[in-house]
Amino acid sequence: MTTLQGKSVCRGIVKAKLAFYRRKKHRISRFTVQDKEAQWQRYLKAKKEAAGQLEQLKSDTERMLGQEEAAVFEMQKLMLDDCEYVEALRSLILEQGMNAEYAVYATGESMARRLDALEDAYIKERAQDVRDISERLLNVLGQNDAEEKFPKEPSIVAADDLTPSETVRLAGEKVLGFVLREGGIHSHTAILARNMGVPALVGVGNSLLEVYDGAEALLDGDTGDLYIEPDEETLLAMAKKKQQADADKERLLALKGLENITSRGRRIEVFANAGSLEDIDNAIRNDAGGIGLLRSEILYLGRSSAPDEETQLAFYRSVLEKMEGREVIIRTMDIGADKKLSYLNLPTEENPALGFRAIRICLERPELFKVQLRALYRAGRYGRLRILYPMITSEKELHRIREIESQVKEELLKEQIPFESRIPTGIMIETPAAALISDRLAKLTDFFSVGTNDLTQYTLALDRQNAGLERFFDAHHPAVLGLIRLAAENAHKAGIKIGICGELAADLSLTDELIEMGIDELSVSPGMILLLREKIRGI
Ligand code: PEP
Ligand code: MG
Repeated sequence: MTTLQGKSVCRGIVKAKLAFYRRKKHRISRFTVQDKEAQWQRYLKAKKEAAGQLEQLKSDTERMLGQEEAAVFEMQKLMLDDCEYVEALRSLILEQGMNAEYAVYATGESMARRLDALEDAYIKERAQDVRDISERLLNVLGQNDAEEKFPKEPSIVAADDLTPSETVRLAGEKVLGFVLREGGIHSHTAILARNMGVPALVGVGNSLLEVYDGAEALLDGDTGDLYIEPDEETLLAMAKKKQQADADKERLLALKGLENITSRGRRIEVFANAGSLEDIDNAIRNDAGGIGLLRSEILYLGRSSAPDEETQLAFYRSVLEKMEGREVIIRTMDIGADKKLSYLNLPTEENPALGFRAIRICLERPELFKVQLRALYRAGRYGRLRILYPMITSEKELHRIREIESQVKEELLKEQIPFESRIPTGIMIETPAAALISDRLAKLTDFFSVGTNDLTQYTLALDRQNAGLERFFDAHHPAVLGLIRLAAENAHKAGIKIGICGELAADLSLTDELIEMGIDELSVSPGMILLLREKIRGI
């Protein structure tokens, strides 16, 4: 038996085989073709698409960072048309009859190697640009050629790290747990695992070897231990522990249907955080009073284009119908930072957490935002919906949101499409700016929801994605708690409600204090609902 240690991000015990997840890798096959012209046309089409992506990247970067920073994309676009480059490709495809993928790869590599060999530092750097262009073209050409390894039987998935979109793609019956070599406990991947309720460890390190692929493993999400090929003694101890956990579960199940009420009679709403329909089922099983945060961006992840209005409408409608009249707070897409979408062509940023994300993208790309608002207004007819806007920092943003909301409603009216026009809208308090001007913001909105994950990151100037900084991450810091208190006071002065949907809402050591501050609603991962109810009833 080998024992490895990681940091637990979701409790529970599970026994299954380990399955290593491997990322997509372009497999460049080299073959000759009969129809050379068809390959040439494929290349021309991919080139046009790549040029469009670069143009979009250039204009976004120019708008946000300036002309100088955007110049690299203009240069890459020009490189696509470079005579020598195109001629080499033409010769490989039209004269030698090679497939387009190989021609792109071979031409790019040979050009990059030549540049690499030169003395001039500036020219040397261009080698990376050539490789970037090849990668872009290969992405466009070979969207279906890449291979990704998913577990074939119910397994504990092991990986270096997972992006939120990979986690979402992997989620499902086949994944009983996650163990990651890297990753931080505050990352979205950790949050997603918690919402799914699957035991998960991060930061296991390099002792998680690929030779363990297929080995029997036992994951203890309570202690952070991962046992590979567990011995009889460990299996027995775990079976006992599981028995105790099942007894605890029974005790909690008896709380179903009861109110979340303190001994002094204060009623707190306990809602669930969710990202998928499976999370909604999980929330219902755990007797959630509503959905306090539906991370709608999950719908945008793991696809090759943005979900259209009908797709979004169907999803939101299913959520509302499943919740049968209980409140559902849907947050508009919080893309950016660690949640990347290739089809939005977002610029590469030095500091993505401080970059182009969430409401900033929505306000700069109203065409994208409007599709989501239309779907939400239309879905509003099927339940009790509230809309939540992320990453707000100013009153100006809210004024601009109101303009777009009005435009969308006018358009729907004109098109005679039925929709609900009186949906309450709230804002996330997840930047220190929003908390500090919460007196002003409270007058412009229907409710507040505190995002303590980002509020802690921005208040303490600590990257939540950086696993190396975890020991500094302190959501109990008086500065963070002070900002929450301020927002709660200002919310109540303006007569609006305030909830918490960040991970701090599930911190049972703070429940008393949060209630004393006046927090009206706590939204937590489905697996925490009954524990929180028990805690509130004991206050
Ligand atoms: C938060 O920041 O606390 C929050 C709830 O949003 P997310 O974790 O999705 O950034
Ligand atoms: Mg946030």
